Amino acid sequence: MRAVAKEDLKDIGEFLGFVDISYPELVPELQHWHTMLIQGYLHNKFFQKIRKQSKSFGQGYKLRNSILYFTMDNQVQLWVPDSADCNVHIKNGLLDKIHQSLGHASHSQTCHTLASHFYWPNMAKDTFEYCRTCGICQLTKQSTQRPFGLLKPLPIPERPFTHISMDFLFLPQVTNKTMQVSHDHVWVIVDRFSKYMIILLLSLNYTAEHLINVYNNSIYSFFGLA
Ligand SMILES: [Zn+2]
Repeated sequence: MRAVAKEDLKDIGEFLGFVDISYPELVPELQHWHTMLIQGYLHNKFFQKIRKQSKSFGQGYKLRNSILYFTMDNQVQLWVPDSADCNVHIKNGLLDKIHQSLGHASHSQTCHTLASHFYWPNMAKDTFEYCRTCGICQLTKQSTQRPFGLLKPLPIPERPFTHISMDFLFLPQVTNKTMQVSHDHVWVIVDRFSKYMIILLLSLNYTAEHLINVYNNSIYSFFGLA
């Protein structure tokens, strides 16, 4: 790959916030990012697709100094490809830089600032995840979630069958050929005072009305209602 000329780095330098790239120590970093972007484009399906479609890269896209830019509503965004190097170094580097320069602002502010100069697919999701896991934000910011309520224990029954608990369990279907009836559920009812358990077989496609009848015949008629 050819050496990157200083002029070629000017655009990317401005985008990265290094307006003056005359500092010699910045050039290797810019060259590194420039190289990663170009290598990322080489293996990017979207980049290759729009390059085949049109020499001008289609509406809004423009290749300048080997870097792809997208312009919409006079807003120019540097298009960051999805590649392992770009994800680790460029995307995380930009998120670090912008989130910290904004004083660890919210993810929406960070994303808004980032999107004013850069674009990559799922940028909002990446920004949210970065801000959510930012160590300094976790240490210094209070949660905006309402505090959880206290657990409210169930009242303690004083007599049998004043409080019951119940559950419905699936069964392999069983058929009583004599009665010509099939069951595929059991209804487990437990008295919370004595832990006395009653298991009732339920017919297929039972309804609320059917359950009321079963309860009246099997529970209420024997144990009453507190
Ligand atoms: Zn933070």
